[in-house]
Amino acid sequence: MNTYSFPIGNFSALVISDGGMPVTKEFFFAETPDHLVQGFPANFQAPLNFIHITTDNKNILIDTGFGSRCKDAGQLLHNLAKHGINKYDIDEVILTHGHLDHIGGAVIEGEPSFPNATYYLRIEEWDMWAANKESEEYQILSRLENSITFIHKDVEILPGIKLFLTPGHTDGHLSVMVQSESQRLLIVSDLLNDPSTLNHLSSHIGLEVSPEKGSQTRKAIIDFAKQQGIMLFVCHYPFPGLGFIEDHNNNHKWIPYFKE
Ligand SMILES: [Zn+2]
Repeated sequence: MNTYSFPIGNFSALVISDGGMPVTKEFFFAETPDHLVQGFPANFQAPLNFIHITTDNKNILIDTGFGSRCKDAGQLLHNLAKHGINKYDIDEVILTHGHLDHIGGAVIEGEPSFPNATYYLRIEEWDMWAANKESEEYQILSRLENSITFIHKDVEILPGIKLFLTPGHTDGHLSVMVQSESQRLLIVSDLLNDPSTLNHLSSHIGLEVSPEKGSQTRKAIIDFAKQQGIMLFVCHYPFPGLGFIEDHNNNHKWIPYFKE
């Protein structure tokens, strides 16, 4: 299965798989005790889940997948099309951060992949990549510059769609709170790597810019989600990346949400 749809109040949400991301265990589980992740081989494909939200009148995509930069991924557009959503339909693209698995699909042949969309990016994220103009990430982001609305503070960009800064993985890493009626979904992108490390805050996906800050953000988000009983969407968790965090004997436990 490569898509999964569910309602959030009056909104509808669609999880879309972009394929798989080939990783080494050392990369995907940086600063992680081996006994927590014994079941993983030295090399494996990490899940790549992204999400599309339809509000009353807007089509919103959160991150764009790898695009053509990874032979095992880049399936997001194709899988969206199977649900009747094409690249011209997307009104808003929220970029949680600048890593290639999240922005690679944002540009095709030097032009924005979603021609009618406004792209959203934290200014700290732009500044971080702009400090290295040779980077592939900056090469992509600079092609989007005229389409980007830069975010300087936590903000509700549309009714029920709030962006807030969750730094550490990168300087301008965004999380997204989606709310309609009394239902909420918290999209935390790459703050978390796999449910097996939920009780080990220093564990993170490689290329984390500030693991110390990342650990603080992970703690805050996990505590918040647990206390509020809020559903999370995590990009690299097993498909469809949806679930709740509950307390089990003073440990965090991931309760997947997946209704057929
Ligand atoms: Zn990622």
